[in-house]
Amino acid sequence: MAKSIVISADGDELKTTQADTTKIQVGHLIGTHDVCGGQLFLKTGSAAKHVILCSECGLRVTIPVDTDTYEKLRNNFSIWNTGS
Ligand SMILES: [Zn+2]
Repeated sequence: MAKSIVISADGDELKTTQADTTKIQVGHLIGTHDVCGGQLFLKTGSAAKHVILCSECGLRVTIPVDTDTYEKLRNNFSIWNTGS
């Protein structure tokens, strides 16, 4: 079942069919961007941060490197993911 995780203050959403416990891995497609339909990839950013990058619109969101599951991704943005 598809679900959404809000990943920006503007309300951009990552769409995925993966379970909350599924790992997200650097170099992999982790979802689609609801606004533009682009592919969201997880990339290496800095020592402390990974980067979620949209292939279509260039949306760029950083997350802590220890964010390694969809559940942790949602928790990282819990301020925008109330009630889920
Ligand atoms: Zn996009």
